[in-house]
Amino acid sequence: MPLLHQVVDVLETLYPLRYAQDWDAPGLVVGDLLDPVRRIAFATDPTMAVIRQVVNEDCDLLICHHPLLFRPVHEVAGEDIHGRIITLLSRAHCALWVGHTNADSAYRGVAQAAADAFGLTRQRPLTPIDDPLTVHKVGLGRVGELREPVSLEVFAHTVADALPHTELGVQVAGPLDAMVKSVCVLPGAGDSMFDEVRDSGVDVYVTSDLRHHPATDAMERARYEASLRAHGIEIGRGDDQPRPLLINTPHSAIESLWLNYAMEDVPQAIERATGESVQRPRPIAINTDPWTLSIQE
Ligand SMILES: [Zn+2]
Repeated sequence: MPLLHQVVDVLETLYPLRYAQDWDAPGLVVGDLLDPVRRIAFATDPTMAVIRQVVNEDCDLLICHHPLLFRPVHEVAGEDIHGRIITLLSRAHCALWVGHTNADSAYRGVAQAAADAFGLTRQRPLTPIDDPLTVHKVGLGRVGELREPVSLEVFAHTVADALPHTELGVQVAGPLDAMVKSVCVLPGAGDSMFDEVRDSGVDVYVTSDLRHHPATDAMERARYEASLRAHGIEIGRGDDQPRPLLINTPHSAIESLWLNYAMEDVPQAIERATGESVQRPRPIAINTDPWTLSIQE
């Protein structure tokens, strides 16, 4: 059986920690480097429900996208939920490894998985990382093209159909009959990237957690620039439609698309690197987006 330190080496070759944003601290959170790894589980968030399931299923390693410890933690005795989770995992000899912004940027990482699921071709990163150690294009977000132009409404349904079911659902901003072909996908909270997305000249931006003011400002600017273009003034990039249009997705749902790739890539890479195999992994089928009801009136 491969040992945890060998598996961590494999994970950090697939999803190099050097791709992580400065504020992020992905990697191994819990675990004994010399423990054997036979059964691996994958989930977007290390919620208590997920932890209970991996402990019940006798897993040796949980691979998550979102960090468990994001803000300072001062005890792991269990008065705080994070400490309790660490205790439960340690007792069960189950390690936790997090692939966060490093996995966002990686080849077959979070952004590429979503862009592939939505049918984007000719993909390039929105903000590339220069990595001489790989032949792949890596970096945050993916800009690409649909094979054929479709209306915003049709594309929004393509996005929604590719996502697991959530109560929050998918929201759309802009004229539903506007045609879209070029797309930027940035799974996770993406409203700090409007300038980069606008500069990329795409027709539509797919991301998560869009807040009222950044989204309203972006749409107002897009509508205003489209009205100027209609009068022959060259501003922004695009046609007579506001650009970019917006599609807002549930955060964990869009990022969970990565697990489909990781569940395939991680066991294969472990076998290649160590000659040892692990059990065929399966995802934890728990929706970790927090919303349990969305009321439309
Ligand atoms: Zn996220």
